[in-house]
Amino acid sequence: MTDWSQRKKRKQDVSARASVPNHMYGSCRVIHCGKPARAGTADGLDERYCRAHADHNQRHGSPLKGSYTAKELNPYRRAALAWMRVGSTQAPSRA
Ligand SMILES: [Zn+2]
Repeated sequence: MTDWSQRKKRKQDVSARASVPNHMYGSCRVIHCGKPARAGTADGLDERYCRAHADHNQRHGSPLKGSYTAKELNPYRRAALAWMRVGSTQAPSRA
């Protein structure tokens, strides 16, 4: 059974902690970033990265790794499309 009052209390507790900047986390861990970590601002509780690097880390698995370019991906896309076209004309093999 869900205790909604407990969830509401937890939500209020987390938002209250997130809204108070913690000056222990005054800088992002990415070298030369210069922005404060999200726990150092009123933006969140992330103790390692600023908003931009946290978002990038969430998307790519690293705060520094860039996105793959279309030039890098296109050979694989063409190979996959060719494989799908060949596969659609042949019966699936079950060995
Ligand atoms: Zn940063």
